[in-house]
Amino acid sequence: MTETSQPSLKVGIVPVTAFQQNCSLVWCTETMKGALVDPGGDLDRLKLALEQTGVTLEKILITHGHMDHCGMAGVLAGQMGVPIEGPHEGDRFWIEKLDDPNSRYGLEGQSFEPDRWLVDGDTVTVGNLTFDVIHCPGHTPGHVVFHHARSKVAIVGDVLFKGSIGRTDFERGNHADLIHAITHKLWPLGDDVAFVPGHGETSTFGYERRTNPFVADARFG
Ligand SMILES: [Zn+2]
Ligand SMILES: [Zn+2]
Repeated sequence: MTETSQPSLKVGIVPVTAFQQNCSLVWCTETMKGALVDPGGDLDRLKLALEQTGVTLEKILITHGHMDHCGMAGVLAGQMGVPIEGPHEGDRFWIEKLDDPNSRYGLEGQSFEPDRWLVDGDTVTVGNLTFDVIHCPGHTPGHVVFHHARSKVAIVGDVLFKGSIGRTDFERGNHADLIHAITHKLWPLGDDVAFVPGHGETSTFGYERRTNPFVADARFG
């Protein structure tokens, strides 16, 4: 697990599943309460991360309904006795597919009903921390991003990657929606916001605005 530190937010990244999906353990250093964002699988590794950090799991947060991000979220919630918040209800159809072995690319998975569906403008708490919820459809219709403004950290799932953007060739994907979400909802948060993508290395919005071939400012004149 790699860690980055901010005033009272800590973020640890644990890649899970055959897709090397970046499950994030985010926690509040004042209360040592935390959330796992997108626990798609490899639950033993996630429990080990909790043990090693001494974090008490308070809840599970979900960015979107793809199996590598939430396939095992329902199972983990049941085992740990914690609620699931997110994604937006637009991804209900993806979460229902988790029970279909033909839709799981060989991963383990189980459908679940989140304790709370999220909408744009909601906030979610982790210990004493408050994250803003930003609805960013395009990769999936119900994709949300979690932003901790005070620390300038965002967990963006499969909306944006270092040097790339999310696929939009899945059912109900929409390329124009995705570009609009990135340029109109993420960029205004600030060039100095560091983000954890669903796969691969972390980056900042400013770096992507300069260099990302899909969404760099130069591309839009
Ligand atoms: Zn995805
Ligand atoms: Zn993914």
